[in-house]
Amino acid sequence: MSAHPQLVRAGLIVLLLSMRAEALPAQHVHGAATLDIGIEGKAGQATLRASGEDVYGFERAPRTPAERARQEAALKVLREQGATLLRFQPALGCSVTADAARVLSSKGGHDEVEARYRIACRQAPAGKPLAFGVSQAFRGIETVTVQLVSDTAQTSRKIVRDRGTVTP
Ligand SMILES: [Zn+2]
Repeated sequence: MSAHPQLVRAGLIVLLLSMRAEALPAQHVHGAATLDIGIEGKAGQATLRASGEDVYGFERAPRTPAERARQEAALKVLREQGATLLRFQPALGCSVTADAARVLSSKGGHDEVEARYRIACRQAPAGKPLAFGVSQAFRGIETVTVQLVSDTAQTSRKIVRDRGTVTP
């Protein structure tokens, strides 16, 4: 038996999240978002990335007050609705708090949006299915490829229109 399995796992989580974080916004597929989740015990973090097109309808700087308002409204949802995007079972008492929600500008005219969340639960979510509300919040997002690493599970799953769960 490995002496420090939790430390090894923690290293994997950091690696997974940093790999995605450093990837440049390029070659995204419209309609497809990614969601990386790391959970250790009662705490975790998550990063959601999607194309600007799917989140607010364009992928360049806003050109009109209406476009600016649309972009701001979408970022506000990302900042304030973390717990409706990632739906832990209510009995676990989890909060999903945004650290940041921002536009990643790209020269090629394919801006992306990234939102980072901190997860804190009263009870460890291990073994309890996690559901999603990403497509409900952003109709343009058809699929979310979820990668989850926790101290008890490592899983990847494509969630189509919020159907299906992943279990930490
Ligand atoms: Zn694009």
